[in-house]
Amino acid sequence: MIKVAVCGAAGRMGREVVAAIAAADGMEVVAAIDHHQIGEDAGTVAGISALSVLIENDLEAAIGRTLPQVLVDFTLPASVMANVELAIAFGISPVIGTTGLSRENLHKLDKQARMKEIGAFVAPNFAIGAVLMMQFAAQAAKYLPDVEIIELHHEKKLDSPSGTALLTAQKIAHARTEAGASPRPLPTEGLIEKAAHARGAREDVTGDVPIHSVRLPGFVAHQEVIFGGTDEVLTLRHDSMHRRSFMPGVVLAVRKVRQLNGLVIGLENLL
Ligand code: NAP
Repeated sequence: MIKVAVCGAAGRMGREVVAAIAAADGMEVVAAIDHHQIGEDAGTVAGISALSVLIENDLEAAIGRTLPQVLVDFTLPASVMANVELAIAFGISPVIGTTGLSRENLHKLDKQARMKEIGAFVAPNFAIGAVLMMQFAAQAAKYLPDVEIIELHHEKKLDSPSGTALLTAQKIAHARTEAGASPRPLPTEGLIEKAAHARGAREDVTGDVPIHSVRLPGFVAHQEVIFGGTDEVLTLRHDSMHRRSFMPGVVLAVRKVRQLNGLVIGLENLL
């Protein structure tokens, strides 16, 4: 049995993770950490039967007592580094779903994991459909280099643009460079910022790929990648209708993370 600690166990994603790990073969939840619902059973909070694992708020104490092998973190951009660095220091492999980690932080975690000779894993999107969307987008960008991304999430999402949109943009930019395909020149960054400000929109440009971020109640996690050609438009769209859509990817990562060496980024590397 793989012993798993879940950080953010009372959160929207954390509750799904607790339920998914409890239901999966060969793994068990041994610790549940959060700032909320302390002392309550993590299974009950997740809407499944009680697991006899109470939610607590001291990660280090939980690690010392339960000796997990894997730590799954779905917390907040401001919390994730401290949790994951602590896990790595104890030789525990992290599976990171929290988005908003900087390139420098990812580099730091990779170095720490390599020093400890353990695997670590992070994915901006654990849904298989989203991973395929990114691959198809990279393929299409070779032939249709003019492309923009619209990502739509629930209003409580803290980071913007989403990690998925940033990774999609990077993959598109890389594929276009490899194919020698160039998009139309964009207006300068300043102009885009002004236009975005005027409309109250959130916009970004990564690798010359404009990203538009929508934050509204009713959405879970959605993305459109729109390619414009000569009198034709190709739209790739992925919709996560429920947070359960991320769970097969999380369970796969828990199963495989200890076979990795250093930090691996992206679910496509585990499939
Ligand atoms: P959420 O509902 O706010 O849950 C986060 C939970 O973590 C909250 O209960 C929060 O408590 C708790 N928390 C904060 N710091 C903590 C710490 N140091 N130790 C333990 N618990 C802590 O957020 P969510 O919607 O579940 O999203 C969580 C993260 O997952 C976000 O970064 C989101 O973007 C990401 N996400 C990733 C994917 C993916 O596929 N990779 C998919 C969906 C979401 P407080 O409220 O008191 O801070």
